[in-house]
Amino acid sequence: MPIYEYSCEPCSNKWKELHGSDDKGGKCPDCGVYGKRSLSTNSIIIAASDSTTPGQRIEKHIEQVRESVKQDIQEARKEYKI
Ligand SMILES: [Zn+2]
Repeated sequence: MPIYEYSCEPCSNKWKELHGSDDKGGKCPDCGVYGKRSLSTNSIIIAASDSTTPGQRIEKHIEQVRESVKQDIQEARKEYKI
């Protein structure tokens, strides 16, 4: 379940709420106005934790980093014609 970050325009209040993407939320605790929603960066980790163990998450992350490094090397080779 993702964490959403809300900001209230009238009172510039900021808060976080945890709820499903279809759920309505984001009412300002101070003034009751619906805040502007933005997805928290933490939500990616939380979303991944629904179905995987920490160990699996780390492995997946390493895999992704490896993939992106591989791509970077290929790009660099192309660029410098190595
Ligand atoms: Zn407010």
